[in-house]
Amino acid sequence: MEELEFDLAIVGAGPAGYVAAIRAAQLGAKVAIVEKDRVGGTCLNRGCIPSKALLHAAEMAEEVRRAHAWGVKVNFEGFDLQALRDFRDRTVERMVKGVETLLKSYRIPSFQGEASFLDPLTLKVATGEGEVRLKARNFLIATGSEPAIPPIPGANLPGVVDSDEITRLESIPDSLVIVGAGVIGMELATLYSSLGSKVTVLELLPRILPPADGAIASRFLALIKKRGVEVITSFRVEAIEQEGDKLKVMGNGEKPLQLLADKVILAVGRRPYTRNLNLEGIGVKVEKGFVKVDSFLQTSIPHIYAAGDCVGGALMAHKASYEGEIAVENALGHKRTPDYRAIPYCIYTSPEIAGVGLTEEAAKEEGIDYEVASFPLTANARAWAMDSAEGIVRLIYLRGSGELIGAHIMGPWAGELIGELALAVRLHLKAQDLAWTVHPHPSLSEALMEAAKAAFYGEAIHYRTMRRKS
Ligand code: NAD
Repeated sequence: MEELEFDLAIVGAGPAGYVAAIRAAQLGAKVAIVEKDRVGGTCLNRGCIPSKALLHAAEMAEEVRRAHAWGVKVNFEGFDLQALRDFRDRTVERMVKGVETLLKSYRIPSFQGEASFLDPLTLKVATGEGEVRLKARNFLIATGSEPAIPPIPGANLPGVVDSDEITRLESIPDSLVIVGAGVIGMELATLYSSLGSKVTVLELLPRILPPADGAIASRFLALIKKRGVEVITSFRVEAIEQEGDKLKVMGNGEKPLQLLADKVILAVGRRPYTRNLNLEGIGVKVEKGFVKVDSFLQTSIPHIYAAGDCVGGALMAHKASYEGEIAVENALGHKRTPDYRAIPYCIYTSPEIAGVGLTEEAAKEEGIDYEVASFPLTANARAWAMDSAEGIVRLIYLRGSGELIGAHIMGPWAGELIGELALAVRLHLKAQDLAWTVHPHPSLSEALMEAAKAAFYGEAIHYRTMRRKS
């Protein structure tokens, strides 16, 4: 059995772990990383990247279906599933290879196998070639999360799948029930309705997309319903049964309901993946599976840090990478704490939804004296030139000073536009700063400037009276 020594050993090579490893190597540390699967974690292998490749193809299909209205003569002939899967796999492969090459370039050894703590200073890793022991002065736990399976009878029937499985795209079901109208549920509803499935989404809460701004979620709901996706809120799924070659989903909302579908996707959240690490055995505090950390991302054992989905908070790749970087800087003698005020979110539906900072609901709940200004994309020239003017920009800012504390966008490329607003929120910029920053014309980004003008002047230039006192 081999025993090796490092300054830092990292468990998990997802967006938290591999980014942390690179940052630690940049700081001169001797680093090792352990991964039981492939580098890149859920994001690269099963989540963000494959789903975005599929969503890109689905969006192109939507464009082709509409293209005749723009004078483009083209007929939509359907999907070549194998080619679609190949495109997804090529995209994933390129990203995974890229991360592997980066790790090699920093001379970071990568051990393949499941790691667990033998004691607070030793990890054992069961690799294909036998057990390896890694001793280190510091550790980072970055083991991520996995889909949560709700305690519904029938949840384990064949044909009932989670988000990890559905991106494999074995087939396009004629009819699909999605349980959960969160981020995954609505992204998959967008994908499969574009692929041609009849989609019904069932949600426990009275609203969809809980983390997004409420006003934007309601607008999106109206749009997706218009496109033929059925969404039933305040509905509790009670059981799933096999009925012939279909699945019968039963539950209760305003009234009891039974739905027949070819496939059921469970998208009811994710749970931390920490169970095989022997954390409690060595004295690391864990709560409901999440590793407990302080504001420096230090666990209850000072030389063991944790970052990403396994510590909770927003389960997003960019938040995980941000924490990974900070955690290893702290482990290597620096002192930095994450600023969670300006972590953006992006929901890759069509149209996209993105935001940063507080939603109006959160500002209200925190008793903040705020105002809201908005600007609709129906008053934006570029949106019309793209035939996609359904969106809106909403800014939440402090009454009096105008400091931007939240910003939310629905519209094309919302995820690309939100970066500017993340910077604004992080730097405590005011509506005036954004209003007086010249944006290119014609561009979607003008809508951000216009919403800021609505906040600062009381009126936007290209739209009247959208400002609302809270
Ligand atoms: P989620 O927490 O966003 O949404 C789950 C939804 O399921 C909630 O609305 C919840 O009320 C509902 N629900 C729970 N139990 C239910 C039941 N029995 N019946 C009906 N509805 C039920 O979780 P998710 O969509 O599964 O995503 C998991 C995590 O992954 C989230 O934290 C999400 O932010 C993250 N993620 C992010 C992105 C992105 O940033 N674009 C993409 C995918 C996933």
